[in-house]
Amino acid sequence: MKNNKKVIAIVLVVLVVGGFLFKTFEPFFKKSKGAENNTTESGAILEPADFMTDSCYAFIQKQVSFGPRVPGNANHAACGNWLIEKFKSYNCTVKEQVGSMPNWEGGTTPVRNIIASVHSDATKRIVLAAHWDSRPYGDKDPDATKHKQPIDGANDGASGVGVLLELARISKDLPADIGIDFILFDSEDGGKPEWAPDGENDAFSWCLGSQLWAKQKPQRTMRYAVLLDMVGAEGARFNKEGYSMQSAGNAVNRIWGNAAKLGYGEYFQNEETAGIIDDHVFMIQANVPALDIVDMRPNYMGTNFEFGSSHHTHADNMSVISKPTLKAVGHTLAYTVWNLK
Ligand SMILES: [Zn+2]
Repeated sequence: MKNNKKVIAIVLVVLVVGGFLFKTFEPFFKKSKGAENNTTESGAILEPADFMTDSCYAFIQKQVSFGPRVPGNANHAACGNWLIEKFKSYNCTVKEQVGSMPNWEGGTTPVRNIIASVHSDATKRIVLAAHWDSRPYGDKDPDATKHKQPIDGANDGASGVGVLLELARISKDLPADIGIDFILFDSEDGGKPEWAPDGENDAFSWCLGSQLWAKQKPQRTMRYAVLLDMVGAEGARFNKEGYSMQSAGNAVNRIWGNAAKLGYGEYFQNEETAGIIDDHVFMIQANVPALDIVDMRPNYMGTNFEFGSSHHTHADNMSVISKPTLKAVGHTLAYTVWNLK
């Protein structure tokens, strides 16, 4: 994803012209009290099964072990096949959405979105999304000789997918009236690299998988969508991203409130940041209320929010992945989904 102000402005214009401004229709969040576990009686709270961080960590490690997952390469194909089998093994119904999209080089990039559903017939549904490709370039690496080499993407890509897989694993205990659609977007992170000159349509060189998905005007069956991006690094800080607040502010506040209640307020902070280009933007464009849980930290002056120092560098490998961060995100999300309003 990208937080360049120029490209954000372009996408904003497109979205406003496209009439994306709408309100979510989620019922107002009622703060729940004390858990009477495992009952569906009105007003009671269901506790999610334990979100296992060791298992989540292993899912991230496995993705990274394939090597960089660049659309079109053999690692990517093998990892995609593994992801599909994994979701099927957790009783998900899996569909693939395959196509190709124009890329920044004037060619096309193949897209293979993977959609895995739990309780396909449930009418109360949520979308949980992440991107499963990894960036073909380490274009922000301090070593310029490595700018054109693909990165591991342990945090940028694999961490979000790892959390989704772990949620799928524990979904056997999900209440029957709640459905989850896991969407693994492809080709999110092949956007125009830092070394190339800026152009007018650069925003559209990112998020090719979600753009393909949005083009097909998905039926609005979900209450809202939650995108996870860079959710595994040590010291992660999730602030309230601007487009998420516009599109699904109630859901953002509910999730951040759940995090605080569960003891993860250190990770889920309350600053509102500028909007960024990420897959949620194109979901919003398709009239789906969507929010992004993404690691953005105040810079050294404390005035702007930036992605972590490993962003789009070769330091984005397993050494940055932190189990306590995964626990904060996974437990908060499980709690939110299991108690979906
Ligand atoms: Zn990225």
